[in-house]
Amino acid sequence: KAKEHGRDCFQFYTSAMHEHAKARSKLEGALHKALVNRELSVVYQPIVAVDGRTFGCEALMRWHSPLLGAVSPNDFIPVSEELGLIVAMGEWVLYQACADAKNWVTQYGTDFFVTVNVSSTQFKRQDVSSLVAKVLRDTGLPAANLTIEITETVLADNSVYILQQLQTLRAMGVELAIDDFGTGYSSLSYLKRFPLTKLKIDREFIRDLPDDQEDCALVSAIISMASNLNLKVVAEGVETAEQLALLASLQCTYTQGYLHSKPLSSSEFSYYLKSSSLDCASL
Ligand code: C2E
Ligand code: MG
Ligand code: MG
Ligand code: MG
Repeated sequence: KAKEHGRDCFQFYTSAMHEHAKARSKLEGALHKALVNRELSVVYQPIVAVDGRTFGCEALMRWHSPLLGAVSPNDFIPVSEELGLIVAMGEWVLYQACADAKNWVTQYGTDFFVTVNVSSTQFKRQDVSSLVAKVLRDTGLPAANLTIEITETVLADNSVYILQQLQTLRAMGVELAIDDFGTGYSSLSYLKRFPLTKLKIDREFIRDLPDDQEDCALVSAIISMASNLNLKVVAEGVETAEQLALLASLQCTYTQGYLHSKPLSSSEFSYYLKSSSLDCASL
């Protein structure tokens, strides 16, 4: 009996693994063609100062596959990193984001910035600082209006090469943000070693504000530490007015989240900027 049961389990696992492998190879096959078939797009989520003015936006990749429908970046980004496809996809996003931001800077002022996520695979497989220099040249976006977002995975490599890449970007005038701060390891030493200019507090720490006392204490400590290190702070995933009020009282520089807006297409974001600057003008 036990033997039969064991065999059933074995069959169950192999067929589940088989299904998983099939789904995975379908995703891989579709992903290989996504860029050339123009299935990728970029959306922009506003980054808003405590006074309510939108100072910038984060560029986020979207994939709509005719075969699979809309696939979340949380599912396709890791696979595109493994397959090395992220290099071409990331290059494409950088071009789009800088070209769009160039227009917004021209219309809304020199303070406006766009942030672009760059993964550790991109730094490993490509000279990111040369790419950024070329894209800025081609699009005419001033370096100061671009922020590169990196996660602790990039910094954890602890290599001289990464440090040099980041120093080159900083020397050009590009800003550097540490993304998802607080979710990785030994973040504090990174803040000292790398030439960062912005810190993004992960959504996980924002979610239960203002009720969770421990999260309040952590977020408050992160904001004052960051301000002492001259880093601008972005709180991610702000969804409620109560969260925003608390973050404003803690003097968080910027907030980003569904409370202000979901990520928007380029034309929607242009419209968003137009209507929010009208709001400001009428004050
Ligand atoms: P991330 O860089 O931390 O981006 C923030 C994520 O939080 C985005 O998810 C955004 O849509 C989501 N978000 C923003 N506000 C809220 C909110 O109020 N509530 C909730 N629940 N979520 C909110 P998205 O667009 O699905 O992207 C997921 C991750 O995929 C990103 O996390 C980033 O790590 C990666 N990613 C996205 N686009 C790119 C890209 O162009 N290049 C690279 N290398 N990675 C990317
Ligand atoms: Mg990000
Ligand atoms: Mg993040
Ligand atoms: Mg993330």
